[in-house]
Amino acid sequence: MSGGDKLDFEIRPNPAPVTAADRAALLANPGFGRVFTDHMVTIRYAEGKGWYDARLEARAPIPMDPAAAVLHYAQEIFEGLKAYRTGDAVTMFRPEANAARFNASARRLAMPELPGETFVESLRRLVEIDQAWIPEHEDASLYLRPFMFASEVFLGVRPANEYLYCVIASPAGAYFAGGVKPVTVWVSPDYTRAAPGGTGAAKCGGNYAASLAAQAEAIEAGCDQVVFLDAVQRKYVDELGGMNVFFVYDDGSIVTPPLGGTILPGITRDAILTLAAEAGHEVREAPVSFDDWRADAASGRLREVFACGTAAVITPIGGVRFPDGEFSIGGGEPGQATMALRQKLVDIQRGRAEDPHGWVTRVR
Ligand SMILES: *Cc1c(COP(=O)(O)O)cnc(C)c1O
Repeated sequence: MSGGDKLDFEIRPNPAPVTAADRAALLANPGFGRVFTDHMVTIRYAEGKGWYDARLEARAPIPMDPAAAVLHYAQEIFEGLKAYRTGDAVTMFRPEANAARFNASARRLAMPELPGETFVESLRRLVEIDQAWIPEHEDASLYLRPFMFASEVFLGVRPANEYLYCVIASPAGAYFAGGVKPVTVWVSPDYTRAAPGGTGAAKCGGNYAASLAAQAEAIEAGCDQVVFLDAVQRKYVDELGGMNVFFVYDDGSIVTPPLGGTILPGITRDAILTLAAEAGHEVREAPVSFDDWRADAASGRLREVFACGTAAVITPIGGVRFPDGEFSIGGGEPGQATMALRQKLVDIQRGRAEDPHGWVTRVR
């Protein structure tokens, strides 16, 4: 896409979409990330040529040369957001924020930026053509996964000259079937997620690959998720493997660790900062040490802790385990402020509450 020309999408509807009956069966219990819609978006990039060949087409395997750069050096980034059915409307939550973050990740991984309007248009087109895949259940949604990787066939180490941008969509059931349940987190003694100067603020597959051993350790320890401490002092709480974290104190104040390059700037995190302030909480972005976390949980000063991200929106954290022991927060029950913020945000996302910040984008 050169000279500001608008990229035209070539539309090739899937000639053999899943039948309505089969789709209904799949949507009855989609789980997460296992069921996919009939279509995908692909856009190619070549150095000197820019973005070209934008398509909305049948979802299909992507042929790839074994020397494609991404398979060797992991030049890959992604995004995640949801589309919702709200009465007759189909909406997305803050897609421009995902576009901006996608491009911030692209810069960090030395990849080309995709114009924000093309990113949002790609989502709109996919959601529109596959809207029958948005489950009817009021807690369900269509998860959108835009991603980009180095497709150039080359084993030399440098930023690739060719990329493929792609969007796929996956119907997702209610995250908490049977009510919101607090999770237990594992404070990893062995692993960190992101170091200063590293890729912690970029949404790249490599960060996730590096977190899997820690997540496995968490499961081994009987926990649901790993929480990472900072890589330099091993003292301050950064975030979970794929969720940001908030602390709620007895005076009503709410604290989340500051973005400093090692924390992924969550869009849910950003929305909660706004909503918590509007709800009258004193809100601060400040470091929280693990020692203070433990001491404040023991003294009762710390009342609630929760994690947040697109998939679960807000997940209460009821217990914390580390090699030398464990402690609980709020008696292991979801906290009041946590649940109130969750409700407020979900209501905005689902079109049940006013949207004063213009976060909800209509697809149709
Ligand atoms: C995506 C992600 C989050 C949450 O971001 P949202 O925009 O709220 O979904 C938090 N931490 C990490 C490491 C992530 O990859």
